[in-house]
Amino acid sequence: MDLDEDLKCEEHEAPYLICVLKSKKEKDHMACEIYAICPVDQKMETRSLDIPIEEIEKLNLPLADKIFRCEKCFREANIQDIAMEKKSVIIYLVCPEHGFLIERDISNDLYDGIRFAWDTKDQKLQKEYTV
Ligand SMILES: [Zn+2]
Ligand SMILES: [Zn+2]
Repeated sequence: MDLDEDLKCEEHEAPYLICVLKSKKEKDHMACEIYAICPVDQKMETRSLDIPIEEIEKLNLPLADKIFRCEKCFREANIQDIAMEKKSVIIYLVCPEHGFLIERDISNDLYDGIRFAWDTKDQKLQKEYTV
């Protein structure tokens, strides 16, 4: 599964960022409803995506990479705050240049894995280099 293929703006050929990720667990896949935003004109689109259960672990980092970035300049954003809701986690991001960004709203089922992948990505990279 290639997220960059599934989540891109056809008009600008730009990779989408994810603002809202809602998931529902089905028998063998996660049915995801995504509000994606184009980094070129900040237009929102909805996409549905079925992620096979066995692929989720692999996709945590690629998903994180589309969540924790600025929708205007694509730089890594700082996590200012998070709020736990009943079904999802609201993430407040700040870009060093563009200030507060559109809130991210990530389904509880997926949040922990995605956040962990993002928080540990630098360690992982180092490990790959030393091996
Ligand atoms: Zn676009
Ligand atoms: Zn920015």
